[in-house]
Amino acid sequence: MPILLPELLWLDGAFRRGLGVDVDARTGRIVRVGAEAELLARAGDDLVAGGPAAELVPSTAVPEYVRGGPQVERLPGRALLPGFINAHSHAFQRLIRGRTQWRPADAPDADFWSWREAMYAAAHALTPEDVFAVSRFCFLEMLRAGITTVGEFHYLHRDRNGSPYDDPNELALRVVAAAREVGLRIVLLDVAYATGGVGEPLRPEQRRFATPDLDAFLAQVWDLRAAVRDDPLVTVGLAPHSIRAVPREWLRPAARWAADHGLPLHMHVSEQPAEVRASLERYGLAPVELLDAEGVLSAAFTAVHATHISDAEVQLLGETRATVCACPTTERDLGDGFLPGAALRAAGVAIAVGTDSQTAIDPLEEIRLLEYHERLRRQRRVLLTEPLGDRLEVAPVLLDAGTVAGAHALGLDAGRLRAGACADLVAIDLEHPALAGWTDESLAATLALCAPADIVRDVWVGGVRRVEARRHALDHEALEAFRRVAGAGVPTPGAEPPSN
Ligand SMILES: [Zn+2]
Repeated sequence: MPILLPELLWLDGAFRRGLGVDVDARTGRIVRVGAEAELLARAGDDLVAGGPAAELVPSTAVPEYVRGGPQVERLPGRALLPGFINAHSHAFQRLIRGRTQWRPADAPDADFWSWREAMYAAAHALTPEDVFAVSRFCFLEMLRAGITTVGEFHYLHRDRNGSPYDDPNELALRVVAAAREVGLRIVLLDVAYATGGVGEPLRPEQRRFATPDLDAFLAQVWDLRAAVRDDPLVTVGLAPHSIRAVPREWLRPAARWAADHGLPLHMHVSEQPAEVRASLERYGLAPVELLDAEGVLSAAFTAVHATHISDAEVQLLGETRATVCACPTTERDLGDGFLPGAALRAAGVAIAVGTDSQTAIDPLEEIRLLEYHERLRRQRRVLLTEPLGDRLEVAPVLLDAGTVAGAHALGLDAGRLRAGACADLVAIDLEHPALAGWTDESLAATLALCAPADIVRDVWVGGVRRVEARRHALDHEALEAFRRVAGAGVPTPGAEPPSN
């Protein structure tokens, strides 16, 4: 991969000119980020003989003595950022986009719980081949939106009858293969799922998720980790689903196992008031308090959602340096509630974002809703800020949520343009009409708070360009395969009245 020289480069909270990125194609890592002159001196003057407008200097135009050395690619009209990190996803739920936006005329309520019935219906219809096709298309959509890493919270383990596959990692490996085929970096967060609610047995419609024995499940995660060990784009994390879906006795050993092996640990936490009530009734503790009591909270822990947590729980997350992963487009869709974003930031909690149910796949929309939800709640503006000169700015906070915080949550050196980090990059099209009128100073805010994901033009993962001029090599094939699954055999989710 060449040295990339964009018009603007996102570094240390601002867009800057005259900088470039040098990438090692063999390792997929960034070698250095530096001044253009410094990078070019390394490349050799002859390499840029094509002048500022030269897109890519072909190796045949390079003198023999430097052939095989670094190439230079200028990116005029483009701004380069670290790729966005989607820290929480259920890829198969892409299948029910748009299919749950109604309720029977005689049903008084539709909420998270009725949506969940619809989601279960889709989950039960999928063959392993379907899981691959739906995941691949979903991951492709992510790449095109500028997402370079997904944290896939994977809980489909068994076949449609609830029996284990010959290889218990059958479906996890299908999801991994889907990400690999489109070139998306994936952290497979393997999900333990054993109870149907706090203190309740698993329900029949949850049979595909079942992991009834913790030790057997951890052995399965170990095997998965071994299977992907040599792939630089794939890592594994551990995810006890929630305090609804795993018993209290599992929490401490699961957290210890993840820590012993250096794995990120993710859980759904307090997405709904009903979970908080159940936790208080059963354990006398709110969910985050329970996790603290069981030694789960740490800098390697990510609480997904955390929409219904008390001030004391916010402090616990801050003291333990845990991350919260908000999924604002999903929380908006499901009527979950608002993240206490400002309070979390004040307590020192990093906030990452995820596309979760795939209602939308747009990392810019996820990050801006962190701020906009806070505005609607408090009827004020410019709330999630950090100082930049004599001003308080929102955009650097939001862009960090979409990059730095997500990478930390997934245990990756990514999300920043710096030496040694994953060469996962996004080029923004500065000629896009949605950005017209931008200035060096206003560009970050225009991106973070106003622009559609369509401004993403090119995407690199591990130093390989996967999206070029908004096109991916598998666009057509992946779309057609997805359409076949979406159009055949999948029950219309929500067709049956909600059961609760
Ligand atoms: Zn989720």
